[in-house]
Amino acid sequence: MEQAVPGGRTPPASSRFPAREAARAGDLGELDTVLAGCRACPRLVDWREETGRVKRRAFMDWDYWARPVPGFGPPDAPLVIVGLAPAAHGGNRTGRVFTGDPSGDALFAALYGIALASRPTATDRDDGMELRGVRITMPVHCAPPGNRPTTAERDTCRPWLARELDLLRPTLQAVVVLGAFAWQALLPVLAAAGWAVPRPRPVFGHGAEVALHDRAGRGPLHLVGSYHPSHRNMATRTLTPAMLRDVLRRGADLAGLAGPTDLAGLPGLPGPDGLPARPHDGGPAT
Ligand code: SF4
Repeated sequence: MEQAVPGGRTPPASSRFPAREAARAGDLGELDTVLAGCRACPRLVDWREETGRVKRRAFMDWDYWARPVPGFGPPDAPLVIVGLAPAAHGGNRTGRVFTGDPSGDALFAALYGIALASRPTATDRDDGMELRGVRITMPVHCAPPGNRPTTAERDTCRPWLARELDLLRPTLQAVVVLGAFAWQALLPVLAAAGWAVPRPRPVFGHGAEVALHDRAGRGPLHLVGSYHPSHRNMATRTLTPAMLRDVLRRGADLAGLAGPTDLAGLPGLPGPDGLPARPHDGGPAT
């Protein structure tokens, strides 16, 4: 982790920090800890910290996390969900991915609906949420202005995702990829890790599936595409709760997570209009 120098001043960011430090992490706990100190992207560091200082009216009593947000879920997960980046007033506030924003409302409700999450809603890091067999992460770990990281920021952050997937590799069976940005970010990571990614590269789509093998013939590693559960996608019903549950259930099946129970219809899950049952203003897509 980059350390503050005497006097409390933070040293200049180094774009080499992610590659250097991610490679040294021996387990996911260590990776998450070191990641939280990353300052490699000056624009994103400014934005995440400024957002944490200014806050949003609804969250004035919050002490924003305002740092990189690590992945969340067990270190032996056979299923990984890859999103986009933390929301400014969601993960950047709470310090946990997809927690405290509308996208997270949809995602955790869907995971709860197939018995992969212990609760239908995620509000803060101490809410007791536990995931079963699934870890959620992102290709960009800091909240970007307008939810739009640059290509350079995505590439700078890549070593964190690469190392995370490397550490998960002994158990990893399937990846559900939320949105085209994550799809584009993930394929080069997998190719660099030795997975035989077809050329031309597989095209993203909701329900798209790809089975990859590595050069030693190991696999398959299953990729499943899904529209991102952004507030806009859910509100326009581009992605419905049922569609999201189905694509996550497909990922769980491919990952060998035995028979997730479908809990759809339980109290606390989104209604038929596709909107979260608990409205709040945590920010746009994660
Ligand atoms: S986006 Fe990634 S590489 Fe950039 S500062 Fe955040 S954690 Fe570091």
